[in-house]
Amino acid sequence: MASGNLFILAAPSGAGKSSLIKALLERHQDRSMQVSVSHTTRQPRPGEQDAVHYHFVAKSEFEQLIKQDAFFEWAEVFGNYYGTSKQAIADTLERGIDVFLDIDWQGARQVKALMPQTITVFIAPPSRAELLRRLQSRGQDSEAVIADRMNKARAEISHYNEFDYVVVNDDFDRALGEIEALVISQRLQQPKQAIRHADLFAELLKED
Ligand code: 5GP
Repeated sequence: MASGNLFILAAPSGAGKSSLIKALLERHQDRSMQVSVSHTTRQPRPGEQDAVHYHFVAKSEFEQLIKQDAFFEWAEVFGNYYGTSKQAIADTLERGIDVFLDIDWQGARQVKALMPQTITVFIAPPSRAELLRRLQSRGQDSEAVIADRMNKARAEISHYNEFDYVVVNDDFDRALGEIEALVISQRLQQPKQAIRHADLFAELLKED
């Protein structure tokens, strides 16, 4: 049994998910948690690096990987393929490391069906007005692009009730603390601790 926990963090764009994950990893530099790097067929955005943000692949390569059954889950999200490879998570969980999947609701459904013990977390923005403000403050996107993002956000948010936990990101530090509390509480579950501290319990239970 793997002793790491698998988490899914889903959110509409503008909810602050990437910043929260980044801050969480910075606070835990003990290699006890990591984010799975997905494969995608979309083009890299400025500043994105291959194998760091995503494994950027051609559509034909992605389809080949589907045929080879290499994906734990995959989905088409707004016209591009995205997927989590099996290899990306199994080895890591086995080593006792918690893994975060930054995937959409379709992927969350597939993973939950395959691994019901997965902890799914939905991160919501505090209001529609604030979501709009965050999307507008990103750059010089046109009104039409912003309106499209708001519609996509609504589509993602409409699935919030399929998740185990919901964190509202109105105050960044509080939201971060809430996600951290979730991660730590899962680690403290008895079966996980029994694996992690097998030597300790063997020693504590030794007959004198
Ligand atoms: P973006 O293109 O903005 O990086 O991501 C678009 C959407 O795809 C986000 O909702 C993100 O969570 C989702 N996504 C990223 N990687 C995966 C993946 O491996 N599987 C699934 N199902 N969704 C993903």
